[in-house]
Formats: sequence, structure tokens, C-alpha cells
Amino acid sequence: MIDQFDKGWDSIEVLLSQLLEECPYAEIESKERRLGMFHVKFKPMTSPAKQFILDCITYMLERKSVWICERCGNKGFIRKQMTPRKILCLPCYAFTLSDIAETLPQEAPMFYTKEDLDELAPAVNTVFGEQGKWLDVPKELIGMVVSSTKYGTLWYGDVPSLEWLAEHCEKLKLYPEFEHDTLTVSRLSDVREILTF
Ligand SMILES: [Zn+2]
Repeated sequence: MIDQFDKGWDSIEVLLSQLLEECPYAEIESKERRLGMFHVKFKPMTSPAKQFILDCITYMLERKSVWICERCGNKGFIRKQMTPRKILCLPCYAFTLSDIAETLPQEAPMFYTKEDLDELAPAVNTVFGEQGKWLDVPKELIGMVVSSTKYGTLWYGDVPSLEWLAEHCEKLKLYPEFEHDTLTVSRLSDVREILTF
């Protein structure tokens, strides 16, 4: 797999091509963002010494990338709240977050309107259960909000896992009211992670 990176990491790409000139035997197998960092994988070598050199290159580039904003090349930090994780400086992080926020449904009313209630509540309740559930789960699964582009915010509460959320969003979409709807999931406290179903 060859990932495309933003221009902030051009310096890493340049360094990598210079290193390849020094190691003509090296062949790139994949280049990807791994846990937010630049990760290059080479075809395995039969010579342990050559393999060692290539492993060092992979490791050093990865360590170097962890401090470089992928978007602008300034000093960045790993943004663990993002999916997928990225290395970004603060301004680029803020830009990226506002890009994400703009894709949220615009006039999402808090929960459904009175008229929708009779029609929708049974489906939402049947699928997701009661609102505002408290569960003993990791903090990234606390206070998840399910919104619909048609009706706005539908449900919020703690969830056992992201798979559970995905599964239940799919179930809700089996109801005719939600058939052509897009459901998004965000966190009550921020908009850093948005999943779309
Ligand atoms: Zn930046």
C-alpha cells in the first residue's frame, strides 16, 4: 500500500529518496501512515546487514516524522484524538477540526420535533435503548451522539464499542424513516471524531 501524504512531509520523502540512492538494493514495499507516523516498509533482504540498515532507515524516518506537521512541515505533535491519527501543528490541527465540524448536519435540532416523536422514538428506543446511559467504558466511548441528517440529534449515551455503534446505526437504517438517511456519530464533548454510516 502506498499512502499519499500532505506536503508537510515532502522533506521526509526527499530524505528517503537520498537514502535510497545510498542503498540501491532497497525496494519499497509500502509507504503508509502508521499510528500517525511515516512508515516505510522495504522488501526483505537475505543479507542480515542490509536488512539492519533498512530497518534503521524505517525506524529513523518514523521517529523524525513524529515531530513534523504533515500539513505544513512545521513542528507538529501526534493528535491521538483523530481517526486516523495524524501529526499536526496546532493551527493545522484546528483547521482540520473545523473542516470536520463543517461536514456535520447544519441545523441539527436537539432531538426530534414533537411531530416526529411518535414516528421515530419507538425505532430509536428499540435499537439504541434508553438515552443518556452510563457505562463503565474507556473515555473515548463515553457520551457518543448519534445524529441524522434528516432529523438532527437522535440519541446520546455511553457505548460498549465502536462496532456496537456501527451495528446499531445499520439496524436503525432498516426502518423506513431512516432508509435514505445518513447517520453520523460524534462525541458529546467535542467534534474530533466523526463517523458516518
Ligand atoms: Zn502545520
